[in-house]
Amino acid sequence: MSQQNLSIERQPVLFVGHGSPMNAIEDNVFRRAWSALGEDLLVAHGARPRAILCISAHWLTRGWWLTAMAWPRTIHDFGGFPQALFDVHYPAPGDPDLAREIATAVSQPTDGKPLGLDRGQWGLDHGTWSVLLPMFPQADVPVIQMSIDMARPMSEHMALGRQLAGLRSKGILIVGSGNTVHNLRAMHGDATHDQAYDWAAAFDAEVADLIVRHDLEGLSRLPLTSTYGHWAHPSWEHYVPLLYAAGAAGESAYASFFNEAFQGASIAMRSVVWR
Ligand code: ZN
Repeated sequence: MSQQNLSIERQPVLFVGHGSPMNAIEDNVFRRAWSALGEDLLVAHGARPRAILCISAHWLTRGWWLTAMAWPRTIHDFGGFPQALFDVHYPAPGDPDLAREIATAVSQPTDGKPLGLDRGQWGLDHGTWSVLLPMFPQADVPVIQMSIDMARPMSEHMALGRQLAGLRSKGILIVGSGNTVHNLRAMHGDATHDQAYDWAAAFDAEVADLIVRHDLEGLSRLPLTSTYGHWAHPSWEHYVPLLYAAGAAGESAYASFFNEAFQGASIAMRSVVWR
């Protein structure tokens, strides 16, 4: 990509429900929507991102870290899937200089220190590449991943998300990748079974309502306030990326939904674009 094509137009913020890793390679409605969104972002929206910062449910650390390698590896962090999925590689470059810039532009909510820089451990896990592959198949936009410290309270995830807001006007597309409802134990054996459990539909509706009302505090308190929380999220790592994305979008962004459906009855694929 040449310098003159670099856009510094303000980027939208995304939350993507990623669901099964097979969505990366299976032709289904979710994957088709990711492809269409990618085309829209690159062509119709007319503002190619300078880089993508992805907060995935699958990179959990002590403290917060950014990938800072020139060529992040593709991590196949799952088992029991066909070889075709293990053969997938997403060869997007990283951007170590930008990672360093972001690490000092924001600070860890716990002690105000810069984010850690990971120069060789992690890479791109399936929370990131399974959605970016259909969205940006050319893999020519640099990708940086940011980890999540799950030992910290929801309010700190939201606070750190808010700190990311300034990156949007630097041409950085912020992507939270998780699921608004994620209960693998309750998942219907047939992943195409899309009739949601009542508790799953109820929790997803609560999330949607808070997003529409721009109630960011409500989103960070929902794990405590919702009757359905322990069903919707036996553990909360798939919910937390939503807080980063909503925080980066802020109260004034207009939110629109896509992929408002379920995979296997207990995985909500609801995704959000804030502009
Ligand atoms: Zn996941």
